[in-house]
Amino acid sequence: MNKTVIFGGTFNPFHLGHLKLMDEVILTVSPDRLIVVPAHIPPHKQSEELMSDSDRLEMCRLAVFGRPGVEVSDFEILKGGKSYTVYTLEHFHKINPEDELYLAMGSDMFISFHKWYCSERIAELATIVCNCRDEADRKRISEAKSRIENSGGRCLLTECTPLVCSSTDIRRRLSENKLIDSLVPAAVAEYIERKGLYRD
Ligand code: ATP
Repeated sequence: MNKTVIFGGTFNPFHLGHLKLMDEVILTVSPDRLIVVPAHIPPHKQSEELMSDSDRLEMCRLAVFGRPGVEVSDFEILKGGKSYTVYTLEHFHKINPEDELYLAMGSDMFISFHKWYCSERIAELATIVCNCRDEADRKRISEAKSRIENSGGRCLLTECTPLVCSSTDIRRRLSENKLIDSLVPAAVAEYIERKGLYRD
């Protein structure tokens, strides 16, 4: 049975926190493949500075280029509308019903997981894997874990020191003409620079 990790997000832009999450999830799960799935319209977030689907897709591709077993899917982008994770998991489950699915997320998402659209169905389809984003989240992570397990779901927590980094901070830095080279993969920094993204 193959293990497939789904890693969804807005990736506006992709940054080193995303890569760190991927590394930790790969160490924890040892999957056969990990699929990065950029959202068309993220249901849990609102951003007035959302770059185009094609720019975010390209930044994901550049960020993971050459990483064995890592792919980028345009499923949510082609589907259009709000990108509900439950439909994405149903899609991958339908393609490979024998695969064991895992859903990777940072602790901010994990803590609010019970409020997601069809969270119980999501937890039936996939084991939820949480990567801590901030030491201050630890207590709420264990509460969220109990909540999911008490409803019959499965979760795993990665063991790591958080890498504090967010797309919001990177967008802010770019709008203030500050450097972002230590926060995003080099190919993503070059792409942002070349296309002049996030500059006011
Ligand atoms: P924004 O600042 O625009 O809200 P973000 O930095 O949270 O964006 P997303 O693309 O929304 O980035 O995140 C996709 C997934 O990656 C989410 O599950 C999120 O929790 C996780 N994630 C983002 N940054 C980190 C980080 N530094 N450490 C661990 N997980 C992270």
